Amino acid sequence: MNAQKLSKRLEKVASFVPQNAIVADIGSDHAYLPCYLVLNNLATSAIAGEVVKGPYESACHEVQQEGLQKQITVRLANGLQAIEQEDHVTAITIAGMGGPLIASILEKDVERLIGVERLILQPNIHAIAIREWAIRRNWKIVDEAILNEDDKIYEVIVLEPGEDSLTEEQLLLGPVLMRQQNEVFKEKWNREIQQWQHVLKAMEKAEQSVEIIEKAKELQHRIEMVKEVL
Ligand code: SAM
Repeated sequence: MNAQKLSKRLEKVASFVPQNAIVADIGSDHAYLPCYLVLNNLATSAIAGEVVKGPYESACHEVQQEGLQKQITVRLANGLQAIEQEDHVTAITIAGMGGPLIASILEKDVERLIGVERLILQPNIHAIAIREWAIRRNWKIVDEAILNEDDKIYEVIVLEPGEDSLTEEQLLLGPVLMRQQNEVFKEKWNREIQQWQHVLKAMEKAEQSVEIIEKAKELQHRIEMVKEVL
């Protein structure tokens, strides 16, 4: 992967960036995504935010190598602290982290989202944490995608400001993905069901504490809920 040729996962994230956006990519270890967006005239300018020094230096190096220092600013910063109001950022991408970490980055500096028109989030796991955060903070899901790359399944969630409400099923599975029900979606949830069934079996063999019984009930409920959707 490089700034000219993104992974399938980051290409999907890029496909949701509106034309002429001013983008902030948070957790931008090689700055491949912002470089790609500017090189392809999808974004007019970008900020690459990175909290760890090594990856930050890789991002600086990549931007220099592509000669994009005028259009892309690389900042060593924690989460949304990479963004200033004067940047007039219109779209934020956060990719390749767990859903709870992405949600916590957004929650920590939620006031910095004022004026942002679109969030494009790609959780590696627990996408539900992002959907729960979105509903709580008045962001609505305008699109979603699911893809398989190297046998790993990734989800992308696209949010815009607005109120929304989701059912328990939609929070877990994604309202758009649930409607589309493509092959990757079915694969993901069949894998999850199998894994949950393994856990349930192990629980049945364990000593039956109140906690185990409650957890098993919850898992059983989730398995039935997902089976009904598929
Ligand atoms: N976004 C890239 C991608 O999708 O390929 C990189 C993903 S990499 C697994 C996650 C990156 O996010 C790491 O470089 C990590 O240092 C950075 N990161 C984690 N927490 C962060 C935070 N709070 N603020 C900025 N960067 C963060």
